[in-house]
Amino acid sequence: MMETTVDQPDLLPYEVYAIKYAHHKRSIRDNYIGSDPHETGSMPMDYFVWVVRNSEHTIVVDTGFNAQVAKARGRDFLRCPVSSLSLLDIDPGSVQDVVITHMHYDHVGNFELFPTANFHIQDKELSFATGRSMRHAALRAAYEPRDVAEFVLRVFEDRVVFHDGDELLLPGVSLHWVGGHTAGLQAVRVWTRKGWLVLASDAAHYYGNMELGRPFPIVYHVGDMLEGHQRLYRLADAVDLVIPGHDPEVLARFPAAREDLAGVAARLD
Ligand SMILES: [Zn+2]
Repeated sequence: MMETTVDQPDLLPYEVYAIKYAHHKRSIRDNYIGSDPHETGSMPMDYFVWVVRNSEHTIVVDTGFNAQVAKARGRDFLRCPVSSLSLLDIDPGSVQDVVITHMHYDHVGNFELFPTANFHIQDKELSFATGRSMRHAALRAAYEPRDVAEFVLRVFEDRVVFHDGDELLLPGVSLHWVGGHTAGLQAVRVWTRKGWLVLASDAAHYYGNMELGRPFPIVYHVGDMLEGHQRLYRLADAVDLVIPGHDPEVLARFPAAREDLAGVAARLD
């Protein structure tokens, strides 16, 4: 059953964009738990930041890694995810709200490029990224300790807003804890001209994770991840309004944000 109703006449719809900033060559078996070793076909990964905006508010979702981290982790760095915001005429210096879906290296960093923003995160995620779980190499592998430390500095500057479970960020934008990938990942639900759209971030890396029920291998709790896929569908008004976090297919399914931004930025609503 839908957790939503399509008719929301009082809400001003938002536009939603994905901006691609990096790429990684991978195979099918890198992206699904329990893959057959022979599933070696190409299944590359794109890296995105997202923009949610209307005439009253601009919200940036995730901040992305920099060239140095890309090099250290062997990712193809295409453009700075934060300066890329200028492609959509957004000045990061004036952004007031940045949602951090979770603290994996490809979703955080570059905080200094948002000098006036508040950063929104789930309680559970910061506890996870600074607590006993990080003693385990398997759980900390996707966290960059410097980014985590930089984020903690923002806590001491009172620039972090903590959320617990399902919370309203602004009218028409809400945050939803979705378990599985990390302890405290949050998806973002947005009211658009097409109805409720859900930025899944890494609650689902690919359409295939959700559609085939095949979980992504970087996982804290497999059961919660599978339940999370269903939750994403319930939060959205249509299956195609759930946007996975890393699927190159997103740029194929949705039109370019502008003619000159084909392959770089797509409009999702
Ligand atoms: Zn990711």
